Amino acid sequence: MSFKFCFLGTGTSQGVPLIGVDYPDDFLNDPKNNRLRPSIYIHTDQTSLVVDTGPEFRLQMLREKIRWLDAVLITHAHADHIMGMDDCRRFCDLRPSKTLPVYAIQESMDLLRKIFFYAFREGPHPAGYFVPEPHIVNSEFQIGDLTIRPQLLDHIYITSCGYLFIQNGIKKLAYLTDCKYISDQVFEEVREVEVAVLDGLRLRPHPTHMNLDEALVAADRIRAKQTYLTHLTHEYNHHVHQAQISQHHPTVQLAWDGLWVEIS
Ligand SMILES: [Zn+2]
Ligand SMILES: [Zn+2]
Repeated sequence: MSFKFCFLGTGTSQGVPLIGVDYPDDFLNDPKNNRLRPSIYIHTDQTSLVVDTGPEFRLQMLREKIRWLDAVLITHAHADHIMGMDDCRRFCDLRPSKTLPVYAIQESMDLLRKIFFYAFREGPHPAGYFVPEPHIVNSEFQIGDLTIRPQLLDHIYITSCGYLFIQNGIKKLAYLTDCKYISDQVFEEVREVEVAVLDGLRLRPHPTHMNLDEALVAADRIRAKQTYLTHLTHEYNHHVHQAQISQHHPTVQLAWDGLWVEIS
């Protein structure tokens, strides 16, 4: 029973590098410092899904040669997490149903319905269009061999929905991005998960995201076997900051685009 996932993107909302910023050559020459907008692809024997469809979704699907999706899960409706959603049309076209299940909490689904109004309307769609099958997330649900538990996260101006993926009774992955605070209830749910992915935006504090110190405190509390930080700004120079983090937190890694993680 396999479970693996890929970091499609690990960058903050504007990506890294930023438009109009000059960087030292050695910074940009490290592929781990080039970060597309954040999302993951999960693949098991029975299930293929993505969490979020950022602005580079199409490029990420081509890069990882992904040809099939069973579902899209959305954390929240900020642009960096949803603006590639229309490119799901290709996956609709490849599926016999010509539709694609989209999972989101009510607040996010209401926003998706406004932004992609032409796709979420009732009635027939022309061939080749994006035709979502909306599923409101409010409790545990099942996709293929995965049991998925939503984890509501405080992103200050909006609620983000993290996801805990359970396979065969084992808590495999907690994907908790875009949050300033994690509630006691969520900590309890995801505790000792095999792999945790946490929002670790940058070094300095930020009003709506956890910074490095806050993410490390959360990682210590969750006690995953392995923790990855994502949604990273250009304040992180991968090899420099990874070395610093590893000194005191050997199980915490800065994620990078294209990283595949297999969870046994
Ligand atoms: Zn974001
Ligand atoms: Zn956000």
